[in-house]
Amino acid sequence: MSNRFLIMEKLKAVAPGDKLAVIEEFSPSEGTYVNGSLIRALKLGVARYNQRKKEIKIEPLKKIKIPMVGDIIIGQIESIQSNIANVKIHYINNEKISNNFNGMLILKPEIQIKRGKEKKIFCKLGDIIRAKVTSYNNAIIHLSINGNENGVIYTRCSSCGGNVIRIDGRVKCIECGLVEERKLAFDFGKAKLK
Ligand SMILES: [Zn+2]
Repeated sequence: MSNRFLIMEKLKAVAPGDKLAVIEEFSPSEGTYVNGSLIRALKLGVARYNQRKKEIKIEPLKKIKIPMVGDIIIGQIESIQSNIANVKIHYINNEKISNNFNGMLILKPEIQIKRGKEKKIFCKLGDIIRAKVTSYNNAIIHLSINGNENGVIYTRCSSCGGNVIRIDGRVKCIECGLVEERKLAFDFGKAKLK
C-alpha cells in the first residue's frame, strides 16, 4: 500500500456508488446522485461535506495536491505543545494548495540537551516556515527544517508583534529591540510567495 493511498484514505476518497449520507442529513450536489434515501458518489474523488449548507460534493482527485515524502512545503505554525509544532501547510513545492493538510514538526530534544537546560527555540507560534516532508505514519505528515534552505522564512517579534531583522542566526525586533532565536532559512525575509 503506497503512502499516497494512505493519505487519500484519510481524505475520504470515494468510488462511484459509495454511500455518502442519507438525504435527511445532506443535499446532493456536484458529483453525487440520490438512490432511494441515500446520497451516493457518481465518480471517483474526495467527498466534501459542507456542514453549513448541508451539501455534499465530490472533488476530482486530480485537483487535490498531496504532500509526498521529499516535497518542500511552506506553512504556518498553528500550535506548539512541548516539543511538537503543528504546521498548517499552504504551499507544496511552491504551489498554493486549498486543502487542509497539517504537518508535524518535532523540535529535536538532542539539540536542547547539547545546550544544557536552555531550550533552543526553532520557531514560534505564527511563524511561516519552509520544511521538507520526511515521512508519514498513519497519515501524519512529518516535517523537518534541517538544511540551509529550510526554517523560518517570516516571523514577527513575539513580544510586541513588530517587524524583525536578521542578525546572524537570530532576529531582532526593530520596535522593542528584543533579540530572539530562530532556525532561519537562508532567504529569511526575502522569500517570495505566489
Ligand atoms: Zn518587539
